[in-house]
Amino acid sequence: MSTDSLNKGVGALPPIKWGIALLFGLTLAGVLTLVPWYGLTHGFSGWAWAWCFLLLYANGMSITCGYHRLWAHRTYRAHWGLRLPFMIFGGMALQNSILIWATDHRRHHQHVDHNDQDPYSAGRGFWFSHIGWMLRHWETGRNDFSNGRDLMEDPLVTWQHRHYVALAIATNIGLPLLLGWLHGDLWGVFLLAGLLRLVLIHHTTFLINSLAHMWGARPYTDTNSARDNGWLAFLTYGEGYHNFHHIFERDYRNGVRWWQWDPSKWLIFAASRLGLASQLKRVPDVTIHKARVAMQLKRVEAAVTCPSRSRHLPDLERLKEHLSAEMAAFQATLAEWARVREERMASARERLLARWEEARFRDRTREIERNLKVQCRRLSRLATELSGPLPQPA
Ligand SMILES: [Zn+2]
Ligand SMILES: [Zn+2]
Repeated sequence: MSTDSLNKGVGALPPIKWGIALLFGLTLAGVLTLVPWYGLTHGFSGWAWAWCFLLLYANGMSITCGYHRLWAHRTYRAHWGLRLPFMIFGGMALQNSILIWATDHRRHHQHVDHNDQDPYSAGRGFWFSHIGWMLRHWETGRNDFSNGRDLMEDPLVTWQHRHYVALAIATNIGLPLLLGWLHGDLWGVFLLAGLLRLVLIHHTTFLINSLAHMWGARPYTDTNSARDNGWLAFLTYGEGYHNFHHIFERDYRNGVRWWQWDPSKWLIFAASRLGLASQLKRVPDVTIHKARVAMQLKRVEAAVTCPSRSRHLPDLERLKEHLSAEMAAFQATLAEWARVREERMASARERLLARWEEARFRDRTREIERNLKVQCRRLSRLATELSGPLPQPA
């Protein structure tokens, strides 16, 4: 039972956040009624569609590359020339300020699936993890910035947090109206680039908290509900590889294989080539393969050892032998990997030691040279006193 239910008695729900409920409800209602009505009676211009999808992508990529992979997870460092558009277009997605979004998200990772601590735990069902968590004053949804002190040192983050409402209004109402006026299609652009774009960016992002914890494969870990799902990746700018992301959250990639659809990874990589991003963090390939193999072995072991499943397997004894051979091979590979790392550390230590010795030798040589020069001068002075010529220092 969740703390929320315990605090308020079973069945009692916390009060509704009416402002947010109205925002989600009215924008969705507008998309379902005004957009088709306007399309049928007036038609939409090419500019209206173009701005709708351009701004949708600007919002989506700012949430994934900026809010998520940069600010929430610190998977790379970004120049302010990149952080500024991420801050503006991420704010335009109306998913709260960076500070609130990223601190909530860090709690989600830390307490994933924990119904009493994960702000959008998938364990509380599809509706709750998709949108319900934002609609009421849940105990798990309270603002808590204790895990976001680093974020408060970024002036763009604190500025956006202070001026969030003004920024949201200017980008969601002012910008679409301005673009519509410029193209002579005020309401057409407003309805598509303002309204439809907002509802699309809301629900595609929300799918990462809901469906990406319910539908798909778990190739890297089954210790949490996160799934890898290529279909969702198309809708979420590459965030569909959520199983990988939950086990390796410090990696700037979500779709780690070259063929996996992850435009956010490609944008961050391209930005690094242009000097706008640096220190891109990647989990070593060996670690990734290790997780995959461990997961495969776990699955085979479960199939072979579970009586209800193994009963139907032909040649069970041969399968068990095969499994133990594979496990032994895996253990041997892990031991070899540990040895290689040990050797690497030892050689790094030796190199460090060698460098240190070299530097110490140089310092000591200079000191000896200095001592000799000083001594030579002393002896020269002494020689003068003795009236006997001795060589001068170089
Ligand atoms: Zn994350
Ligand atoms: Zn998640």
